[in-house]
Parts: sequence; structure tokens; C-alpha cells
Amino acid sequence: MRDSRYDILFEPVRIGPVTAKNRFFQVPHCNGMGHQMPLAHAAMREVKAEGGWAVISTEECEIHPSSDLTPYVEARLWDDRDIPALALMCEKVHAHGALAAVELTHNGPAASNLFSREILLAPSHQPTKYGYPQQARAMDKADIREYRRWHREAAVRGMKAGMDIVYVYAAHDLSLAMHFLQRRRNQRTDEYGGSLENRVRLLRELIEDTKDAVGHRCGVALRFATEEMLGPDGVELAEARDIVAMLAELPDLWDVNVSAWYNDSLPSRFGGEAAQEPFVNFVRRATSKPVVGVGRFTSPDTMVSQIRRGVLDMIGAARPSIADPFLPRKIEEGRLEDIRECIGCNVCVSGDNTISPIRCTQNPSMGEEWRKGWHPERIAPARKPEKVLVVGAGPAGLEAARALGQRGFEVALAEASKTLGGRVAREAKLPGLAEWARVRDWRVGQINKLPNVAVYLDSMLGAQDVLDFGAAHVVLATGARWRRDGAGRTHGAGIAGLADAANVFTPDDLMDGPLPEGTVAVYDDDGGYHATVLAEALARAGRRVLFVTPEDLVAPWGQYTLEYRHVRKRLASLGVQVRVSQCLRALDGHELVLEDAWSGETHLHPIDALVTVTSRQPEDALCQALRAREADWAGAGLAGVQRIGDCEAPGLIAHAVYAGHRLAQALGEPAADAVPFKRHFHHD
Ligand code: ADP
Ligand code: SF4
Repeated sequence: MRDSRYDILFEPVRIGPVTAKNRFFQVPHCNGMGHQMPLAHAAMREVKAEGGWAVISTEECEIHPSSDLTPYVEARLWDDRDIPALALMCEKVHAHGALAAVELTHNGPAASNLFSREILLAPSHQPTKYGYPQQARAMDKADIREYRRWHREAAVRGMKAGMDIVYVYAAHDLSLAMHFLQRRRNQRTDEYGGSLENRVRLLRELIEDTKDAVGHRCGVALRFATEEMLGPDGVELAEARDIVAMLAELPDLWDVNVSAWYNDSLPSRFGGEAAQEPFVNFVRRATSKPVVGVGRFTSPDTMVSQIRRGVLDMIGAARPSIADPFLPRKIEEGRLEDIRECIGCNVCVSGDNTISPIRCTQNPSMGEEWRKGWHPERIAPARKPEKVLVVGAGPAGLEAARALGQRGFEVALAEASKTLGGRVAREAKLPGLAEWARVRDWRVGQINKLPNVAVYLDSMLGAQDVLDFGAAHVVLATGARWRRDGAGRTHGAGIAGLADAANVFTPDDLMDGPLPEGTVAVYDDDGGYHATVLAEALARAGRRVLFVTPEDLVAPWGQYTLEYRHVRKRLASLGVQVRVSQCLRALDGHELVLEDAWSGETHLHPIDALVTVTSRQPEDALCQALRAREADWAGAGLAGVQRIGDCEAPGLIAHAVYAGHRLAQALGEPAADAVPFKRHFHHD
């Protein structure tokens, strides 16, 4: 039963001619499946509808070939042939009493047209946003008329597909409707440029056109960015207030956020729950129409507070709905402790940015609803409730134990240390990563509810211990350690002078013990988040920090997770000295021998200590020891030993969680259908 404090979250909200059954609104989010994988896309959206969200939106939806977003895979309504794919989504969403919404967009100079080869369009002549080597041309009046026609026709196609809400999109610096607002992109001298009224004209026309075309059946939403955080080069709050005042009653719903995407989907390292409130809270007072906004909301108390204090009418979510598609239902059923809270790592975002189906650190079923038939809440019961020993309680071991427990296996989870969580527990202590502990906390909470999962702390197991345990299956999730010798992507065979030097530290050393003193160099040949987080920890502790990398960019993986700019700014603000394109050739006592990656010039740099972030070595000694004793397995009743997570192949926490889940799904199943892998073919 739900707590009456949360009743307000379950009140219906009218959006033009349609009514949302409650205040939970899955705002548009990319997913890397889009128009290319319609069955997978529809199944992913359906699970959220089943989980209680009142509105389920698509990602951005291209309205015309001149807004082709290749290589990104988004939704598409170029012509009638695109209707069935979105109709499928609508049908699935409607089956659970939710409304479907489509976010129409023409991205102008932020499109690529790499596939369609059409000329890019923009308010004024200008380069493309993403650096493609062809400019966008200024739209003339006929182009503007055409653009309005395409938008109207796409709205009608959306309605025919079954959409209940049609978006006009002016956010993220991605759509023409927003580009016309921006002085930096719009230098027109006609009635569509210059004064604010002129720059807003097209947006107003699009909303009016959309209402005219579909407003009798569909709610018309406006997604609007109130602040670009670019100073006078961008849309600023003061101007946004005027725009909201000018359009206040025109749309049926305001969906408000900050721009660009890296500010909107802010990683938890750089901002917490409800971080956008100061930028959007004025909208609610400026309109009588419902307002939805995002803030990585996972706490029902924060949600209620947003509504009671008049900040928002509807609780918007992309990431919290990815991490837990059943978040609304869990609040409704009074199961708050079951909410799988988003950790703000932005691995989900990396799917879109790497042009691959979405995945989520917390929710391993995300993106696998159709392809593998996985569900975030349900899992098939074990065919035989055999005894399973899981060794290691990091993210892989915890998820394996949890999901095996859910299936009904008799599970023992043994952990060498006195705490659960493995790398998650250690990394969550680093600056900005505290919320990552949710990966551990949710799983421990679930395991504690399962009578058939026993946890043994302080239990360092050797091969004989494992054999003596008498389990039918053994799952090794023993993790990995960072290498000391500098071996990594650039230096496959390691770096001279590192392995035995007393002033060389690994990330594990820093997480386990005191930080080195003096001038500390962090050498990053890994490219992920570890090196920049450690540099931040060192700088915050007062060390002089030199960040060196053979890459041309600092921690390039952060481009996929929208961390890149925030990381650069933070390192700069902490006074971390950054040297890119520098290969570490050797450590000579207290001098780094650096070689410029492009000129080949060598120079020396004095330091007190060096932290190497290069690659990891799987902790697979137990695995090897057990394999060496395979002859003893049968006598011990042991059918199989499997390793998962970082002890198999080190990766992200997301990879470890996925590995644990995959193992649990497959254990005891006939090999052929243990983990299905459906693919989209034309004959599907
Ligand atoms: P992953 O990311 O793959 O889950 P982690 O490194 O986070 O890996 O976790 C591995 C866990 O396994 C650590 O908490 C570690 O203490 C534990 N561990 C390693 N070897 C053993 C062992 N032989 N017996 C019990 N626990 C172990
Ligand atoms: Fe949240 Fe990370 Fe999952 Fe994205 S991948 S929804 S940020 S937990």
C-alpha cells in the first residue's frame, strides 16, 4: 500500500485533449535503437508503461531527410513508411494505459545528412554543429514554409501512428526551432531574425501549426531549454523568461530543461537530484499549463516537494526510468526500498553516442527486453534449485547472487573482505562518485530479503575451500587489480622502471591507503574516468598534480558519457596541469621521461610520485587453481566453474553487473536457449 504522502503523485493531469493517469512522465530519451530496431525499441518503451509511467515518449524523431541524423539512430517520420514502427510502440504503450508522445525535430545545422545527402539548413549560413566539412545554408522564406509543412505532416503521421502527445522541440541546441532563437545562429534581417519577437516567430508558428494539425486529438507539448550556460552567446535565463511569457498559454504542456545535453543529463559527479530547479522554477508561475521537468528524480519525497512547492506538475525522467522502469509502481505499492536508483554514470548515454543499443549500469535488462526477453522485475524460476557458490561480492558477484536468489537457487555469496561491494564500495569514496554506491546498496537490500541467499564476509576462499563447500555450480567474481608496470593500450609490454619503483602507485594503492605526497603525476593510458577522478582527489588533498596522457584528449571515453567538458573544467579549476599527446617512456628516479607522440621529442619532468592508470590484471588465481583440479570436481559434486565480471575481462561497473545477470539468467538452462539473441531482419 502506498503512503498517503505520495497520493499527489498519482493524480491525473490534463494535457490538452488527453489525460495522463498520473504525474510520472518519461521524457524523450535516445536509446541507440530508434528506427533501425523498432521491435526492440517498442519492447523497451512497453516495459516502462507497464512500470507505471503515465506518458512514454520517443527519442528525437526526424521529420524529413534534410534532418538526417546519421550515424545516430533516432526515431523517424520522414514519410508514411515510417508510421508502422512508431505505431508498434503506441500499441505497446497503450496496452498499459499510458500515453505515447513523439518528439518531432528538424535539427538544421545539427543534423548530418550523411545518409540523405541533402543540403543542411540553418537560420543563417553557418558551419555544422558537429564539424562535418560542409556548411548549412541560410533558409529563405520558401524553405521556412517547407519546414513548417514538413513539421505539420510529421505531426499528422505521428497522430496516425497513435501518438497522444506531439512535441515541438526547442532544446539541447539541436533543433531549428531553437536555432532561430539563438543570436549566434540567427543573424537574419527579415521578420524571423533580430528582435526577440522575430526570433520566437518560427517557434510560435510551429506550435500553432501543430495544434491546428493534430490539436483536436493530441496534446501539443513544447520542449524548451531555459538556459544554455554559454553567457550571451546562448539562450539565457532572462531571455527565456520573456519567451515563456510570450508563449505561456500556447502549448498544452511545457517540458523545460537546460541545454545542451551535457548540462541536461548531468553526471552525478557534477550535480545531484533536482539540479535544474533554479533554471526552470519560474515557468510554473508563468503559465496555467502543466509543466514537466527533469532532475534525476528517484526520491518520492523530492518529487512531492517539487509539486507542492510549485516547481513542476509532472515528474519528468529519462535516466531514473532507465535504471528502474518500475519506479512509479514501486511508489504506488509502497515498495520504496525496491527502487533501483539511477547512479548518474551516463553509461546509458554512451549507447546513443557509440551508436549501439542502450545499456544501463543499474538495470542490466535495459535494451534487452526484446532481444533477450529480459524483464527488469521478472526472471524465470530455476529448473532445479541447486546450490550455487558465488565468490566475490563486487557488482558482478552481487548481481549474480541476487538474480540467482530471485530464481530460487540456494546461493552462498563469499567475500574475502569485511565489506560488500568490491570496486563499487571503493570507487564510491572517490570525489563525486558517492551515488555509485547505489549499485551495491540496491543489491544488498534485495539479497537481504531473500532467505535462500546466505552471505559470508571475511571469507577468503581457496580452491580446497571451494571444493569442500559442495556446491553444484561455482561462480567466480573475484575482480581485478590495476597493473603497476604501465602495460596498457600504448605500452603493451609495460614501461621501463615502473614495476619495482617505490614512488609508483596504482589506483588500488590510492583507494586503499594514504595519498602520495608532493608533486604527483597521473599517467592515463586508460582513457576512462579513473585517472581524472584520482587527479581530482589528489588536487583536493593539496597535491600538485600533473595529468599526462598519450591521447590527444583528456579521458576521451568521457565524450560518450557527456563528462568531457565538465572534467576539463574541473581539472582546470583545481589547477591540475594537463599534458596531452605525451608517452611515458620511463621513470628515472624522480623524473618522468616523456616523449611527444607526434614530434618524437623527449623531455624530462621532475615529480615525487607517479600514479599509473593503464590497465588491469584479472584476479583469476582461484580460477586457475580450480581448473588445475578439474579431476576432483565430480567427487565434490561440482558440475561447473564459471568466471564473470572483472576477473574475466575488466570493464565498466555496467559490464560487471551485466555479466552477473547474464550468468544468472543462463545457469541451469539448456545451453541452446539460455541467452537468446534475437536480431532485426526484414522478415521479422
Ligand atoms: P567485479 O567488478 O567483477 O564485481 P570487484 O573487484 O568489484 O569485481 O569485486 C571482486 C570482489 O571479490 C572483491 O570484493 C574481493 O575482495 C573479492 N574476492 C577476490 N578474491 C576472492 C576470494 N578468493 N575469495 C573471496 N572473495 C574474493
Ligand atoms: Fe542512471 Fe547510469 Fe543507468 Fe544511465 S546508465 S540510467 S546514468 S544508472
